[in-house]
Amino acid sequence: MALQDIRRTFLSWPVVRQLTGSDPTGRGAAVVSDHTRAVTARTETADRVVQSICPYCAVGCGQRVYVKDEKVVQIEGDHDSPISRGRLCPKGSASEQLVNNPGRQIKILYRRPYGTEWESLDLDTAMQMITERVLDTRARTWQATDDQGRDVNRTLGIAGLGGATLDNEENYLIKKIFTAMGAIQIENQARI
Ligand code: SF4
Repeated sequence: MALQDIRRTFLSWPVVRQLTGSDPTGRGAAVVSDHTRAVTARTETADRVVQSICPYCAVGCGQRVYVKDEKVVQIEGDHDSPISRGRLCPKGSASEQLVNNPGRQIKILYRRPYGTEWESLDLDTAMQMITERVLDTRARTWQATDDQGRDVNRTLGIAGLGGATLDNEENYLIKKIFTAMGAIQIENQARI
């Protein structure tokens, strides 16, 4: 190695930069490498930022979704959120991996009774099938009165079990629609 290279290497050591430069405590320029200096945060290069809510749990932390070329490139905590004030837990911080994961299912999959393979369904077909099953189950299991003749107007054939990814508003709507259908078995995973 030439003398000049040795000198350049020696001078580039963080401790040398710290002792000889303008950053004696080693908390700034002295400890920044050329590689780090050349890196730009995805939040800096995004085309736009969209405010959203973390999809993972009912806390509903605020998120800022950074978009570049119509693709989500980063998701961070939203400082404007009165709920989370810029913070996200490890799950919420990893939301970008949920959006862009190559294993993410974006089609409706259906396995018919006794079927051994999954089939893809379009949304209209799936909604129609769900509607028919709900109406049929409700009609078959409807109870106007109990065994003592008291009015109950309910069905025990339909139950709702929510997951922790549902937020307060979704749980509110699910409770309303299931109660309106006559279901009384309505639970959430968070209480189990
Ligand atoms: S999963 Fe974490 S970041 Fe997301 S809403 Fe819940 S607490 Fe907040």
